[in-house]
Amino acid sequence: MTSKTLALDGPAGSGKSSVSRAVAQRLGWVMLDTGAMYRAITWAVLQANIDLHDRAAIAQQALSTTIEITTDPRSFNIAANGVDVTKAIRSPEVTAAVSAVSAVPEVRELLVQLQREAVANSDFGIVIEGRDIGTVVLPDSRLKVFLTATPEARAKRRSLEVDPLADNQMIAQTQEELLSRDEKDSGREHSPLKPALDSRIVDTSELSLEQVVDQLVILAHETYS
Ligand code: C5P
Repeated sequence: MTSKTLALDGPAGSGKSSVSRAVAQRLGWVMLDTGAMYRAITWAVLQANIDLHDRAAIAQQALSTTIEITTDPRSFNIAANGVDVTKAIRSPEVTAAVSAVSAVPEVRELLVQLQREAVANSDFGIVIEGRDIGTVVLPDSRLKVFLTATPEARAKRRSLEVDPLADNQMIAQTQEELLSRDEKDSGREHSPLKPALDSRIVDTSELSLEQVVDQLVILAHETYS
């Protein structure tokens, strides 16, 4: 089991995915995108036409869904019950439904266990990113970072990722979606989105990807050398 972990949390659009990929590559570590796991379960729930208010059915579906996820920062793949869902989990339908599915305690229990197993089975350092990594999944991690950014910066970043020509209207709509997802993720009863008490808070609003990556690589070297 590796003892080198970077627990990276933050809201949607804070840059977690790009940052974790780049930091893992720089350090020669692997990475785990836990949001993709919640999305894969959500994909399976939608495929099965389950009512998003039916928590018992969602829990049942999660238990019967097998997830395979890669941890190589240079190539990412995820499968649910043997179906490659790498692209499908980014659809607007999955994005709209994922907060409801991830609020179900049984779904969280199951995925937290899988996430801890992935860390336990890793021979390399691991960057693990999500919403509850520092608080719940790896509370003993020696390095915890919480990325933040203003809603405007996050909406702009997310919109330009989807469409490099995104206009102000699209950015405003994205901002509304991000804030609504934040509210659900922060307000839920189980493992809400929040920094751990010992997290370092990094505001990425005015920083380039390279600047954030440099900061985290330095922190990792300081923590683990
Ligand atoms: O990171 P991403 O935006 O792909 O995450 C999708 C959703 O998965 C979040 O909005 C949240 O509801 C859920 N999530 C979670 N806990 C995590 C990672 C993601 O609840 N550790």
